Amino acid sequence: MVFDLDMIKRFYEGYSQKVEATRKVVNHPLTLTEKILYAHLWQGNADAAFERGKSYVDFAPDRVAMQDATAQMALLQFMQSGRTKVSVPSTVHCDHLIQAEVGAVADLSRAKSQNKEVYDFLASVSNKYGIGFWKPGAGIIHQVVLENYAFPGGMMIGTDSHTVNAGGLGTIAIGVGGADACDVMAGLPWELKFPKLIGVKLTGKLSGWTSAKDIILKVAGILTVKGGTGAILEYFGEGATSLSCTGKGTICNMGAEIGATTSIFGYDIKMAEYLKGTGRAEVAAEADKVQENLTGDNEVYDHPEKYFDQVIEINLSELEPHINGPFTPDLAWPISKFAEAVRTNNWPEELEVGLIGSCTNSSYEDISRAASIARQASDQGIKTKSEFIITPGSEQVRYTVARDGYLDIFEKMGGVVLANACGPCIGQWARHSKDPNRKNSILTSYNRNFAKRNDGNPNTHAFVASPEITTALAIAGSLTFNPVTDYLTNDKGEKVKLEEPQGIEMPLKGFAVEDAGFQAPAEDGSNIQVAVSPTSDRLQILEPFPTWNGADLSGLKLLIKAKGKCTTDHISMAGPWLKYRGHLDNISNNLLIGALNFFNEKTNLVKNQLTGEYGPLPETQRAYKAAGVGSIIVADENYGEGSSREHAAMEPRHLGVIAVLVKSFARIHETNLKKQGMLAITFNNKEDYNKILEDDVIDIKELTSFAVDSPLEVVLHHKDGTTDSFPVNHTYNEQQIEWFKAGGALNIIRKEFADSKK
Ligand code: SF4
Repeated sequence: MVFDLDMIKRFYEGYSQKVEATRKVVNHPLTLTEKILYAHLWQGNADAAFERGKSYVDFAPDRVAMQDATAQMALLQFMQSGRTKVSVPSTVHCDHLIQAEVGAVADLSRAKSQNKEVYDFLASVSNKYGIGFWKPGAGIIHQVVLENYAFPGGMMIGTDSHTVNAGGLGTIAIGVGGADACDVMAGLPWELKFPKLIGVKLTGKLSGWTSAKDIILKVAGILTVKGGTGAILEYFGEGATSLSCTGKGTICNMGAEIGATTSIFGYDIKMAEYLKGTGRAEVAAEADKVQENLTGDNEVYDHPEKYFDQVIEINLSELEPHINGPFTPDLAWPISKFAEAVRTNNWPEELEVGLIGSCTNSSYEDISRAASIARQASDQGIKTKSEFIITPGSEQVRYTVARDGYLDIFEKMGGVVLANACGPCIGQWARHSKDPNRKNSILTSYNRNFAKRNDGNPNTHAFVASPEITTALAIAGSLTFNPVTDYLTNDKGEKVKLEEPQGIEMPLKGFAVEDAGFQAPAEDGSNIQVAVSPTSDRLQILEPFPTWNGADLSGLKLLIKAKGKCTTDHISMAGPWLKYRGHLDNISNNLLIGALNFFNEKTNLVKNQLTGEYGPLPETQRAYKAAGVGSIIVADENYGEGSSREHAAMEPRHLGVIAVLVKSFARIHETNLKKQGMLAITFNNKEDYNKILEDDVIDIKELTSFAVDSPLEVVLHHKDGTTDSFPVNHTYNEQQIEWFKAGGALNIIRKEFADSKK
């Protein structure tokens, strides 16, 4: 057993009481989302109802999951906490670093050698700190979580945006940055803006070529890539309960594409069957005891418009299969309209590659339905025209579908089975192509299809559909083929129509696996050494950041006055830099290289006030650090918007920047800066931004009396000897002021933990 049954039992024991307490506070019938959120409030029930879309609320998630790319910095930070074990059950999954090229065996073996030091680090740090470790080849994080860890009513955070997949098994599961994962593992609360609620009522029943994927493709078309922002989607209705658990997972998974905080389904018979089928009958038995609270109240579902902020209704009996794209997952086409759209828009009609699987769509049901199409092609002498690629989501699924003959069917039609990993879904695809820039089309059953996502080619038109539609179109080799109405020609020249797909939700002989690829952590990890070579350029053990010296800040050099948009991507660029995400010093060489310098309108070219020369920004900051001189970043509105990336806060801190003064912050980044012990301040009067000159030396006063709601003062010393001064604001609460004084939140956790041992 890899899951924590005791934790789940304890949770269910107190769950109904918490829901009843919530009723008194909220005072109206409850959605499922409200029941689960209130049951996970940090340190007991609150005595106030929270305002949707406004209140920031602390939660206590039950579990943390991390993928191998993002886990590196999260765990390097966790090591700083001084704790000997993680505070909540946590797992690491090695799935993102495996490049797909020729097939599962060779690709996995190459990845193990190329990423050896990262895997060794993750395996050893997991072993030491009580974290479950899923080895390379074990599977994709979200499929493995669904098969092993998700449970109805639970709350989980994961360092990956498709963590939301676990909503298919009734878990509120939310993607976060590594700093949040570190906090929860270290025993701190996790903050979330209380979400708005969107109800999705599903009526009718799926049939024929239509599958669960088509529901989310349709929802994406309705809500667009931004329509779910700040909201949780709660699915309900007869159509919802008729969907398989893994089908529900597919829908929740792709909810990330509409910007939703997460999506969720209520506990039902399909979830119970899936729990039993994946070796968790005990969890189903516990959930059965509180099942009335693992779904929304009847009154809510009878009158959803009264209790949700928005309601969408979809009749599954009328839903057509959809194909979405290109370049965005919300461009939704019912299949009956798609061929015309391809011709009208002049998209490449030839389908070069069909790819099925990934964490989104590689369930037993998906594979068996796709295989039922592939089998027809082989049986009827139809040659597959496109390349065809299969990515199983986990070793358990791969082993089971291989045992049941499905992989043979795909291989017979020329399909290539990749390692149980992300591969082409995240651009880890050494695609065989003579011209990597040519215009071409691919169709996947993945979730994202933004330009360059799969193969790095901006001219690849990537479309998204269900595995069975992808398989049918790959056989036809054409985007304009509609399997619902069109015929294919077999090797005898006869016209053949593909029958509707047939699938099985759960394997009749049960799931099986020889080696699932799981390493349980040591009971006592105190003697385990974390494997990091001091000469590594990919990994570096962190040093605690220095504490504040207790004095006002004086003589700060202006590192940059950034103009316009400055997202976390401008502050810490991705792409090739991600290789160094476990090595703070190396990745710091990308600090702010995407930001525009106000004074010369150039990126990565700033004045070094020590020499008067212009140079790259990271080098300039390293010169200030070497000289023992503090510095400050000044920027425009919404500084640090974009994905929560802890590197964007850690890099300036590491290189010696002390303060960030902006017109406004993106909230998550502002909190990340505070956690790292930086001073994050805003102009009281935004016009004061204009007073800052290139050669300014800057003081920050009133820090010695740093207090909640008490402004600070900035003094500018201009080169001509004149000065300017103005008030600046901050949003530090008492706890956060302590973080600043201690040099960062982790320094406090470490001290508290050490004190508790005395
Ligand atoms: S398969 Fe794709 S969507 Fe799923 S975790 Fe991997 S990269 Fe993300």
